Amino acid sequence: MREPNTQYILSLSYGKDSLACLEAIRLLGLPLDRIVHAEIWATDTIPADLPPMVDFKQKADCIIEERYGITVEHICATREREREERLSYEKQFYTLRFNKERQDYSLYGFPVRKGQWCTSKLKTEVLTKFFNQSNIRNAVLRDTDKGNEKQSFSRRNSGFSDTSDAVVQFPIENTTVEQSAFSQCPKHKGHKTNIVQYLGIAADEPERIERHTKQGIILPLVELGWDEQMCRKWCEENDLLSPIYTTATRGGCWFCHNQGVEQLRLLRKDYPEYWELMLKWDNDSPVTFHPDGHTVHDFEKRFAAEDKGLIKAGDTKFRWKQVL
Ligand code: SF4
Repeated sequence: MREPNTQYILSLSYGKDSLACLEAIRLLGLPLDRIVHAEIWATDTIPADLPPMVDFKQKADCIIEERYGITVEHICATREREREERLSYEKQFYTLRFNKERQDYSLYGFPVRKGQWCTSKLKTEVLTKFFNQSNIRNAVLRDTDKGNEKQSFSRRNSGFSDTSDAVVQFPIENTTVEQSAFSQCPKHKGHKTNIVQYLGIAADEPERIERHTKQGIILPLVELGWDEQMCRKWCEENDLLSPIYTTATRGGCWFCHNQGVEQLRLLRKDYPEYWELMLKWDNDSPVTFHPDGHTVHDFEKRFAAEDKGLIKAGDTKFRWKQVL
């Protein structure tokens, strides 16, 4: 069932759950108008994804267009004042910011793990801006429903009244009003379009389900009862399983400060040009690459020592003092 003046949008990550969500939407007979993906760029010309992931996304886009008739929209961060200029990781890295404690300016540099700027500036804010475009607003409950907001399950929040057997039942306390109208509420008059956002959260992820059970969000996999295993199976059978599940390809940005030593070792071996870029950034960053104080150059020394056979890769007894 489709609400009037409403766009139905899937946020796609290209993970198994996100892709399987497309099929869940179809099986549930839900409307779908747009599919959007927040793309991160390392530099103006280099994507944040490793090449196998870039290829997979292209292949997946073709399959999606063919099967569901929708072109995936790839959006990315732009500079606040220059909307046309792409904001890459590198550009933000080299942006100056004022440090209140030191009373001076310094580069952003590598993100710190707590409150990492890469996630907010290059991903979350991009999607938030997209969903807050002037002619689009989040679906809202009637004012009288506010008290039930937290307890309400997603589909109810969206205004659907489907009672199909496929719907997984969750305990919903105090939900006594029919939440079908997005906006009879006078304060929202004048806005043009509601949005309902679909998220690919599997039925066996209770913590995420709880966190994302809010107004304007529907969790089709939960409604269909598809757990992570089922999502993977569906992706495998439909040639839509990302290489991150079958090869050592990293999911997420190749320059991520959260990745472990094995991934960094692989990056240096398979993509030396990307590793060189990280060494360059390392020279300029006021923040160390890893929160424990280790830099990309420290890892370079470690890997070089492994290359020379001075230490063994993957040695659990490794201590930094062996190479620094
Ligand atoms: S994958 Fe790592 S670098 Fe990329 S946005 Fe997430 S935390 Fe930041």
